[in-house]
Amino acid sequence: MTFEPADRVDAVPPSGIRRFFELAEEMDDIISLGVGEPDFSAPWAAREAAITSLERGQTSYTANRGKRELRERIADYESDVHDLSYDAEDEILVTAGASEALDLAFRALLDPGDSLAVVQPCYVSYVPGATFAGVDVIDVPTRVEDEFKLTREVLEESGAAEADALVYCYPNNPTGATMTGDELVEVAAFCRENDLVVFADEIYADLTYEHDHTSIATLPGMRERTVVFNGFSKAFAMTGFRLGYAMGPPEAITAMNRVHQYTMLSAPTTAQHAAIEALDDCREEVTDMATQYDRRRKYVLSQFEEMGLDCFPAAGAFYAFPECPWDDAGEFAEALLQSKSVAVVPGTAFGEGGAGHLRISYATGLEDLKEAMTRIADFVQ
Ligand code: PMP
Repeated sequence: MTFEPADRVDAVPPSGIRRFFELAEEMDDIISLGVGEPDFSAPWAAREAAITSLERGQTSYTANRGKRELRERIADYESDVHDLSYDAEDEILVTAGASEALDLAFRALLDPGDSLAVVQPCYVSYVPGATFAGVDVIDVPTRVEDEFKLTREVLEESGAAEADALVYCYPNNPTGATMTGDELVEVAAFCRENDLVVFADEIYADLTYEHDHTSIATLPGMRERTVVFNGFSKAFAMTGFRLGYAMGPPEAITAMNRVHQYTMLSAPTTAQHAAIEALDDCREEVTDMATQYDRRRKYVLSQFEEMGLDCFPAAGAFYAFPECPWDDAGEFAEALLQSKSVAVVPGTAFGEGGAGHLRISYATGLEDLKEAMTRIADFVQ
């Protein structure tokens, strides 16, 4: 007996982003617009709460679902900020990042052989997560002419009506697209008509620049068929704390907790202490960081315009998704890296609909961003 990856593991290719990081790591003077991670450190009060909890010796497991106090804070925050109403008792599950919550949903709420409609281009984990769960994927490619919004037409054309569940992310990684409440109405109607449950990844909900975020779970008849995912990685700049959460009807959260209680036991305790403080006292920092992202967003979009590269007006998260001047975005990204030491990610890394585009993360300090955009402009000339 030797170690061979299981078939469903073998079926998943290595991450398309990882290759660029590996290349980038070997180079000097590199500016990376590749990573989907805030350049800010976590707010100091959250870090201090983590330190204090350690000084107090609070190093045990917590309740499987997460500390009660944290679930209550999450319930208050979601109600204040996103108009969502979930009961801390049985409708919220605290997880090791939104990543764990998504994985739990795929494994706990779908059976092998069920199908999941995946709105693309999308975060790199959805399709592998579905494969690990033995779930079939139906690609739902959004279109640049729709500004990468999800429309009824795209859902119908892709055969999503046959799916058991739909997963999407707005504000979107990698495109920066957002959807208004009005635009979600038809998506919600489609899901109700075709009896789909929805996995709504709203991890960038607090990073919108043109209009407030609306959760699909606030639309009529949707709360009972939606699980909402969020976390502390993006708006609170707490990626390394590894803390996220899922909110949904008790039967969904209970099933997800059934897997979580055996595979994770509980989310990191120190991070839960930090997160309580983040929700209590760090909302101003979230607003400040969002203001800075917005400034960078406007700068990046204006630079692409000057270069003559088409870039639709990304209105959320911290990504721009311009059209690539070369046919092969992978070759472009590699050549840009080799000749100008700027790392960007080809859109193909994010699935269907991403071809011919580049993902630019502007979660990078303005100085570096300016230097990187100058180098890109030189390269494009
Ligand atoms: N969803 C999306 C759309 C993301 O971009 C990310 C992080 N890149 C995640 C989920 C995972 O976040 P977390 O750090 O909470 O696991």
